[in-house]
Amino acid sequence: MPKVNLLVRAGQMVPAHDKPAFPDGAVAISGEKIEAVGTYEELSGRYPKAKVVGGQKFLLIPGLINGHGHGRGLTDFQRGARDNTLETWLLDTRKYIPVSTYDDIAYSAARLLKAGVTTTMHNHILKDPTAYEAEFEEALEAYGDAGIRVQFNPGVRNANPFVYGDNKAFLDNLPEKLRSALTAPSPEGSLTGENFVQAVQDLHSRSNTPMSRIGFGPLAPQWCTNELLMDVRKAAEALQAPIHVHAVQSIFQKVYGLQFLGRTLIEYMNDIGFLGPLLVVGHCVWPTEKDIELLAQTGTAVTHHPSCNLRVRNGISPAFHMLEAGVLVGLGLDGKSINDDDDIIQEMKVCFLLHRIPSLELNSPHLTARQVFKMVTENNASLLGYGEELGRLEPGRYADLVLLDYKRMGYPFVDPSHDPVEVLLYRGLGSHVHTVIVNGRITVKDGKLLTMDEEKIGKRLAKASSRQRTEKEKMLVDMMDELKKYAVAYYKGWPGKVKTEPYFEINSRIDALK
Ligand SMILES: [Zn+2]
Repeated sequence: MPKVNLLVRAGQMVPAHDKPAFPDGAVAISGEKIEAVGTYEELSGRYPKAKVVGGQKFLLIPGLINGHGHGRGLTDFQRGARDNTLETWLLDTRKYIPVSTYDDIAYSAARLLKAGVTTTMHNHILKDPTAYEAEFEEALEAYGDAGIRVQFNPGVRNANPFVYGDNKAFLDNLPEKLRSALTAPSPEGSLTGENFVQAVQDLHSRSNTPMSRIGFGPLAPQWCTNELLMDVRKAAEALQAPIHVHAVQSIFQKVYGLQFLGRTLIEYMNDIGFLGPLLVVGHCVWPTEKDIELLAQTGTAVTHHPSCNLRVRNGISPAFHMLEAGVLVGLGLDGKSINDDDDIIQEMKVCFLLHRIPSLELNSPHLTARQVFKMVTENNASLLGYGEELGRLEPGRYADLVLLDYKRMGYPFVDPSHDPVEVLLYRGLGSHVHTVIVNGRITVKDGKLLTMDEEKIGKRLAKASSRQRTEKEKMLVDMMDELKKYAVAYYKGWPGKVKTEPYFEINSRIDALK
């Protein structure tokens, strides 16, 4: 019989999204895996020598999974970018004072763990395109030191560098100085569309482990050539590794597909043979009915980032409609949660509330707490390639689990007839997380991170960020501000190119009885 070293006990246990809450439950852990799930009485009798953590006042759930992120320890807002429409906001993100990749990611991992995230997807956007190998190593080292599981996808873009569509016309319109600064060739040895697949294959061969699974992150169908997407698809199939893109995030991306490709971006990806079960589409705010059907038919997954979509003015993704149509939909923080703090429990709540769809039928369906719970556990596990290994408390799966202070969550009283998953969504906060176990290892105890000195890392980040910008960095800030004005002018009138009523605004203003 395998040696059970840890018994995790709770007054309420929800082993999976489709299992009822269980009073006085326990999970027995042997090394990295779950050995047994049952009542505390039964398991403590079977494994009398195991160390016991938890107790009556706790709620025990599977580890929460962040389906989409970029490992930003200091948030975009903290680094100076103000939320605005994606197309201009992205230019603000190029103005940051650089910080250490290790510190940035380690700090982000610390915050995620403390909110109950045991696995996170990381799409890596390079700071220095020539130092890609070193950056990948630093990133994986940071996740390893934090003790969080990561599904890591290096990013790349090789098309539409400035705007969607006619980049030549856009560049021709710029003042000479700005144009020549922007069109300087990328330095020797950079990660490009040419060497991207090889670089990811190399990383996969040296670093693909259960704690760090490697996949592909070509940034978006509008930012990558057809050839690059197909090379990625082929390599991903050979490795059975996930591919993550960002797509149909803004109305401008929708118009771009229709205007420049003669079809939606989802139809385009389907036509070139890029959709499929290995692909995850981040955001997917503006799909058509046909797009949703294509996603469901091809087994393509979607991650929904509700707060991020609100913050960069993308709108509200039809996540509930996609789920109803049979699309595998997960949930991602994308580093822009409602309170700017990567609290995934709050993000679950935003998702839950946003999709309480109004209806003239009082008993019509809407997103339920259990569906949101499924999105962050089983669905995210599946789309990150951990289908049979994570997302449920079941023997044989990795021991990733979270204990929350359920007494404090409901204090001083909460009606016992409520499902604990609903109590979690209505009243839960990341700060109710008490103990986090990843791969059988306790990483957070009493709400405190055991694996790293996060205060020290935070101090280093603050110090690095608070210095004055160099003259060169100041020039970059001015350049991005100038470029923003040209981007605003380039996209002017685009929404008029597509039928937007009555669904463009959050609520239709069409007379109801006409
Ligand atoms: Zn993203």
